[in-house]
Amino acid sequence: MQVEVINLGPMENCTYLVHQDGQAVLIDPAWDMNFLEHTLQKKNLKLLAVLFTHGHFDHVKFAQTLLEKIGVKGYLEQNDLLLSGIDPQFLHLYEGEQTFTFGPFQVHIIPTPGHTAGGVCIQLENCLFTGDTLFPGACGRVDLPTSNPRQMRQSLLKLAQLPQDTQIFAGHSYNGKCSSTIGYEREHNPFMRNALRDQELL
Ligand SMILES: [Zn+2]
Repeated sequence: MQVEVINLGPMENCTYLVHQDGQAVLIDPAWDMNFLEHTLQKKNLKLLAVLFTHGHFDHVKFAQTLLEKIGVKGYLEQNDLLLSGIDPQFLHLYEGEQTFTFGPFQVHIIPTPGHTAGGVCIQLENCLFTGDTLFPGACGRVDLPTSNPRQMRQSLLKLAQLPQDTQIFAGHSYNGKCSSTIGYEREHNPFMRNALRDQELL
């Protein structure tokens, strides 16, 4: 399984292209659908599904045109439907923890509300796509519509329990980095450490 990061748009968003054996899923495709479609064609990849970490515009912008054109579903936690503005006919909406299989990909959805009510982390093998829940050295904002600081704290605690070598891929570059590990964040991320300290886990 290969993971490629594609930086698109004016907000340092990270779209992820995950592929294996000529098949692919896209995580948080936004801003430039022509580029993404061209990338899939150039690499001769068949797109099986689109997965969204949450419904904020900078993670979904123009994605509906890709869903419409290629005819695959976008997978979105139902609590973020309104935020996303995507026509539900192009979506597979779900609630809570899930496992999906697309070709060679087993996808585990971990609900991580806090940044938005429907925010999730998306796990494939040892890789965790954290959207705006967890960044290298930071976490997402909790002062936006449907944000909840208490839920963010719980979500960070949940992520801290994952295997320490889990590779994380965030929804934005943060200080030039979009990737880290759970183990590193447990040691160095002040937000995750505060959550652990409050639970006397540190
Ligand atoms: Zn966001």
